[in-house]
Amino acid sequence: MAHKHVYFFGGGRADGNQSMKELLGGKGANLAEMAGHKRLKLPVPPGFTITTEVCTYYYKNKKTYPKGLMQETGKSLRRVETLLGRKFGDFENPLLVSVRSGARRSMPGMMETVLNIGLTEKTISGLINKNGGNSRFVYDAYRRLIMMYSDVVMEKAAGVELKDDESGIRKQLEKIMLSMKKEKGITVDTDLTADDLERLCKLFKVRVREVLGKEFPDDPYEQLWGGIGAVFSSWNGKRAVSYRRIEGIPDEWGTAVTVQAMVYGNMGEDSATGVAFTRNPGNGEADFYGEYLINAQGEDVVAGIRTPAPINEYSTSEHNKELITLEKAMPKIYKELFTYQARLEKHYRDMQDIEFTIEKGRLFMLQCRIGKRNGPAAVRIAMDMLKEKLIVKTEAIKRVTPAQIDELLHPIIDPKIEAAQKVLAKGLPAGPGGGAGQIVFLAQDAVEWKKQGKDVILVREETNPEDVEGMRAAQAILTARGGMTSHAALVARGWGKCCIVGCGSLHVDSLKKELIIDGKVFKEGDWITLNGTKGNVYAGQLPMVDASKENKVFNDFLNVCDSIRRLGIRTNADTPEDARKGRQFGAQGIGLFRTEHMFYGKGSEEPLFRLRKMIMSKTEAERRKALDELFPYVKKDIKGTLEAMDPYPVVVRLLDPPLHEFVPRDPDKLQQLAADLNISLEELSKRADNLHESNPMMGHRGVRLGITYPEVSEMQIRAIFEAAAELLKDGRTPYPEIMIPVLGDVKELLHQYEITKCVYQEVLKKYDLKKIKHMFGTMIEIPRAAFVSNKIAEVAQFFSFGTNDLTQMGFGFSRDDIGGFLPDYLKIGILPEDPFQSIDREGIGELIKISIERGRKTNKNLEIGICGEHGGDPRSVEFCHQVGMDYVSCSPYRVPIARLAAAQAAVNNHSSATVKKKR
Ligand code: PEP
Ligand code: MG
Repeated sequence: MAHKHVYFFGGGRADGNQSMKELLGGKGANLAEMAGHKRLKLPVPPGFTITTEVCTYYYKNKKTYPKGLMQETGKSLRRVETLLGRKFGDFENPLLVSVRSGARRSMPGMMETVLNIGLTEKTISGLINKNGGNSRFVYDAYRRLIMMYSDVVMEKAAGVELKDDESGIRKQLEKIMLSMKKEKGITVDTDLTADDLERLCKLFKVRVREVLGKEFPDDPYEQLWGGIGAVFSSWNGKRAVSYRRIEGIPDEWGTAVTVQAMVYGNMGEDSATGVAFTRNPGNGEADFYGEYLINAQGEDVVAGIRTPAPINEYSTSEHNKELITLEKAMPKIYKELFTYQARLEKHYRDMQDIEFTIEKGRLFMLQCRIGKRNGPAAVRIAMDMLKEKLIVKTEAIKRVTPAQIDELLHPIIDPKIEAAQKVLAKGLPAGPGGGAGQIVFLAQDAVEWKKQGKDVILVREETNPEDVEGMRAAQAILTARGGMTSHAALVARGWGKCCIVGCGSLHVDSLKKELIIDGKVFKEGDWITLNGTKGNVYAGQLPMVDASKENKVFNDFLNVCDSIRRLGIRTNADTPEDARKGRQFGAQGIGLFRTEHMFYGKGSEEPLFRLRKMIMSKTEAERRKALDELFPYVKKDIKGTLEAMDPYPVVVRLLDPPLHEFVPRDPDKLQQLAADLNISLEELSKRADNLHESNPMMGHRGVRLGITYPEVSEMQIRAIFEAAAELLKDGRTPYPEIMIPVLGDVKELLHQYEITKCVYQEVLKKYDLKKIKHMFGTMIEIPRAAFVSNKIAEVAQFFSFGTNDLTQMGFGFSRDDIGGFLPDYLKIGILPEDPFQSIDREGIGELIKISIERGRKTNKNLEIGICGEHGGDPRSVEFCHQVGMDYVSCSPYRVPIARLAAAQAAVNNHSSATVKKKR
């Protein structure tokens, strides 16, 4: 048999089915399913789908069609004619068809459609007669055909270049129609009479000839093949191509073309058209929900000319409550529709979005597809369907995306309002959710304004640790520089705060208190709104919607995720407060407690001052004195966090940043420090200068500090063990894991291990204890450490991948300055995405694999996790699952996302998900 290009559906039969989306496109496959499946057999207007393979052929063969297509199309058209008792092009009883596009994944509004094909000068009168002399209806259909066809087929598909937007044929025809309405003193299209419309069609045709230099085709087959060709051409139209780039849809997929008999919802008061969902897509309630319009065509619903009416009581709202429901207006039809929607949902086992038309009291189903829904609805529908036994757990987990989980955790900009806004600037989406506020440029102003009850957005060139209080006070943070792991991004994400960084088009002048974007000046106090999930900045104050309330269904859903995932989930937390938050969200431990964070922000004054004293000390004796003063603060913080996480493990990392970061800039503070150290300001400045490094991220930081100042490590390790010992004495079950950062060689680790062993024995003795449960391990964040992991694992009991630094050092990209060139790298396609957001599997991922393999060869019980920012990125979580890590750790607000991502990874990578071992 020759290769099949055309798939028929109608009359209770179909050549295709829903599993054939690749060949028939989503629309074609679902039409075939609705029309032909024995459990459905819905009233679908008959038609046929030309496959995506024909589209591919068309582009490979200079826009020609494969042999036999004409005959196959003709045969299918005959079947449609037989079913309906009408004939395409017949003068007395003509069949009209629509030509629609349909890719395997929905590309809403990106490709073309032509309706009413088959109407010509000769078929008009036949159609009028068949419609009881309703010439108004027929001329209205004809003018729609001319408008659509001349635009889609004769202009766009023919590649006619436009001088400007106004010169397009569609715009010109709209103008003619408008001037006719003006001339007649009417405002709505429906007030145009049959004569008006007939005259309009004549005027349209004249204009088409003048503008496009061609007659409007009066042959039905010319119209049909023109329409089919135009749909194929629209696959490579500008809109469709850029949509594919954004959505990552391959060019080779192609579109299918569905040709289907027309049915009309605009044939009078017994006709209608509508759109409905089998469940409420806004909140997930299991009720049939939808809108319809009497005496209208589909495009009228979309165009928003009339307010659609609710299909039932459940769908009524403030703005449509006066209108009569379909249930009341056409009770029999409503009942039929209700049965169909229930049948469809049961069949597809998911919420469906359906389109229907009622033609003279007869119901037709025009489309069905998986309905789009928001986060709260997605979770609710998944859980309800699980209870209804419509789906199983593994399916429920796949029904919710990580982005939808995010919607439940933060207020977001009202999506309907946001859709109509112009994006003012774009940056990196560092902290999710929405935030609206008045611009302030200084951290102290943010604090001040907040006290006065104002919502503010802190706008900075970039942030530094001294801005923390202002960042805390702000609704959201916007910076011109910095990458996804820059200071602002890390801090904001930890708090679940909306934040955009690296927004290159901002010009921030903190002195003048001015922000310039694209030549537009914003002053202090002006309102802006940020979408931190997308990285979009908008002018003005946009309203927020908040789905982040306590939600039982949400927790139930996450518990289902937990029952499937293999990966453990921990949180990165630096305070007891964050630890509790992470735990509330479901974390089973802390993967990274950054000791240095106790020196930033609220309550940090005193420990910071003592740390500074320690840094500026010249002799070991001086330093030990300062460390003794610092010790109680460090111990208190660690104890509080161990307590909050009890009995889960807490990875406490020893001091990591280069010390110069803590040197005060403020002259008053310098003065006070000099007095306290009993040295001159000059001497202090000299010591501060000595700490300066040209490349601090690769300088004196991490374990290197502990090697040159063993007493610094000693103090911290003692604080950890003593905190744990005191908790043990109180009958608690603390579990610290001591982590050494920025390691490159096992000898560094051994050096710190010796200190640990010593301090451990001392603390046991002091508290008269036999054992304190703990672990000793390291971060893998330098490429060399990955290669020598076999040796490191001789000493380390655990590895934690610091993928922020591993990416920085693996690529040689500064994590704070990537904003300068990343947009170009993404645009040209040198990088597929920001490697600080999602693990670069090809390079950094290989380093991780090598490290795990070599580490586990030495110590098969080595505990392995990740604590870089990637630990909360769903795709990176999947990678961590695949390479066999034990856990991922991320900021508290990303814990629920990681729980879902880990469950999805287990479902999608079934073989490696069999061992369910969680830490
Ligand atoms: C890392 O490098 O991935 C890490 C977690 O450490 P930090 O971000 O504190 O350098
Ligand atoms: Mg690091």
